[in-house]
Amino acid sequence: MSEWISDTPFDPKPARHGEPPQVVVAGQRIFAHRAERLRQLAARLPAMGEFLHFSALLCQAQHRTSLDRVSTVGFDARAWRVAVEQGVPPLTPAALLGSLDWRDDLDALLETLDAILAREGERFAAQRLLLGRLIDVAAQRRLALARRLLDHAPIPRDTRALAPFVGGALQVAWTRLARTLEPLPGRPLAGAEGRCPCCGSAPLASVVQLGRQRSRTRYLHCGLCATEWYFERARCSQCTGTAKLDYIGCEDEQGKRGLALRAECCGECGGGLKLVDREWEADAEPLAEDLASLGLDALLDAEGYARAGFNPLLAFGD
Ligand SMILES: [Zn+2]
Ligand SMILES: [Zn+2]
Repeated sequence: MSEWISDTPFDPKPARHGEPPQVVVAGQRIFAHRAERLRQLAARLPAMGEFLHFSALLCQAQHRTSLDRVSTVGFDARAWRVAVEQGVPPLTPAALLGSLDWRDDLDALLETLDAILAREGERFAAQRLLLGRLIDVAAQRRLALARRLLDHAPIPRDTRALAPFVGGALQVAWTRLARTLEPLPGRPLAGAEGRCPCCGSAPLASVVQLGRQRSRTRYLHCGLCATEWYFERARCSQCTGTAKLDYIGCEDEQGKRGLALRAECCGECGGGLKLVDREWEADAEPLAEDLASLGLDALLDAEGYARAGFNPLLAFGD
């Protein structure tokens, strides 16, 4: 790799032969995989079945939208170079929210989801009525909502119902674009380790991976573009502290583990990020496990930790 990249916060060194890759972008089946996992979890957790099943259908619609639509905004090699020279990730929402065609993805996503819900019969009739109203929400309000989601700001009550679909469309647009980056940025260096090297977003969760190359290696998983980047185990993704980590699980009264995750909580900065362990369950997937473990967020809150994960399918009010 050329020298122009060497003084940036990104480590341009490719992994040495036999070492796990530093940065991995999501494959084409990421949304389909999430949908499959959410269906499994809906069957396992009947109390959350309706919510998880609906979320599975939303991910299924994301999968179709990501394959069916070809973005009119492609990878810009010059912009990539400038961004990395300036020490910022190449696909930040601050740079691209106005120009990337995520609003077309949103229209396609709402239409595809409506067709999927129609096939479910009366079960999701109320949600279809809601979608019908959301399709008419003005462009300006959609943009304001996208900004608030990306800033992790509370979402006003009158547009909160639209938030998961706007978040879903943003994920489709950014995941598609991240897949075209060539070459990939390296792993973020000191000061930026907790931010996605492709888009600069916060992680949704961390994940201990499986597989020949990445076995037992921990990565942070981007909430927006689903890129994964290497991050040492037993280290806080928020402040990088290692001294006061605590792990909170979601076992039932019998001590049986219900989901393949726990939260890694830091006494130094007060943040808590979910840690998905694929060694426990090979099918586990960060976004699906996050949606299925909202009870763990309540537990974190009760223990005085703040949720650090960024999941654009979840909107929080004041
Ligand atoms: Zn990202
Ligand atoms: Zn910390």
